[in-house]
Amino acid sequence: MTVDKGTTIDSEIIVGADGVNSTLARNMGLRARGVEKGVCILQEFEVDEKIMDEYFKKSRHCYVHSRFKTAAGYGWVFPKKEHLNIGFGIIRMDKNQQQKLNLLTCYQDYITLLKQENLIPQHLKETPVKGGALLTHPLEKTFTDRFLLVGDAAGFINPLSGEGIYYAMSSGQIAAEVIAEALEKNQTRQEFLSQYQTRWQNDFGKDIDLILKVVKRGSMEYAETVFKIASKDPVLTDLMMGVITGQFSVQQYKWKIVRRFFYSSLKNRFHLLK
Ligand SMILES: Cc1cc2nc3c(=O)[nH]c(=O)nc-3n(C[C@H](O)[C@H](O)[C@H](O)COP(=O)(O)OP(=O)(O)OC[C@H]3O[C@@H](n4cnc5c(N)ncnc54)[C@H](O)[C@@H]3O)c2cc1C
Repeated sequence: MTVDKGTTIDSEIIVGADGVNSTLARNMGLRARGVEKGVCILQEFEVDEKIMDEYFKKSRHCYVHSRFKTAAGYGWVFPKKEHLNIGFGIIRMDKNQQQKLNLLTCYQDYITLLKQENLIPQHLKETPVKGGALLTHPLEKTFTDRFLLVGDAAGFINPLSGEGIYYAMSSGQIAAEVIAEALEKNQTRQEFLSQYQTRWQNDFGKDIDLILKVVKRGSMEYAETVFKIASKDPVLTDLMMGVITGQFSVQQYKWKIVRRFFYSSLKNRFHLLK
């Protein structure tokens, strides 16, 4: 429904689903100004099947390059059905780096490097450069009296991949369930709505938490070692990519990944990997 500016609507409960720059989150006092954000730049290039096959084989392998220009983030090349998605994102920047790193320049240098290494076609049709931002972790509180926050507005993002569609849909569903109960019981105060936070935390929140712990604890150098080991072991690569792209639940796969990682590290150490 489209409404004119100034229109008043009465509602028992409001859901804030207004994305990463959520005005509602700020106005309801759930988000302070200047909260930490990750940023990225990407382009989607039309590429025909023959060229896709040539560069990315039938298996459509993708590339993820960590620590390009020492940034705490990564560049990616994802071959999709009819286009190539290439981007560069920074998860966090320290103050000194912020002045030095220009995201657009980093992205352009990344494209140049990909071409030099012949990892992507030399000639790609011009296409608009898109930018995006995301919160780097969920907000501490996602509810208050007669109000809930869902999706990007609440910072529900996979901290490794920046993906958030799954969490946006899950949080929407949990919010709908809690609201239905709240209306039925006529309890719209925050004491009742706090169940929303408990439920999302027990659901996808555990995955986000675990990834955040790994991201915070592990230095970028350590991440690089992990990538090196994984790059020599297709099974580990598949497991890690599954988690990074959100196909696998971290909770479900964490021990499988840890076991495979130790197995691969040992093989790697004794130079047994082909
Ligand atoms: C470049 C980029 C690529 C991404 N790729 C992926 C991907 O491949 N897979 C994945 O899972 N996730 C991806 N994401 C993340 C994903 O887009 C988000 O997590 C997801 O869209 C969140 O959904 P949402 O409904 O919470 O917010 P949004 O999709 O941002 O929707 C918010 C809506 O609210 C509207 N709005 C805002 N303010 C107001 C207002 N004042 N009044 C009225 N309407 C308002 C906006 O116009 C918008 O339509 C990507 C993000 C970016 C930036």
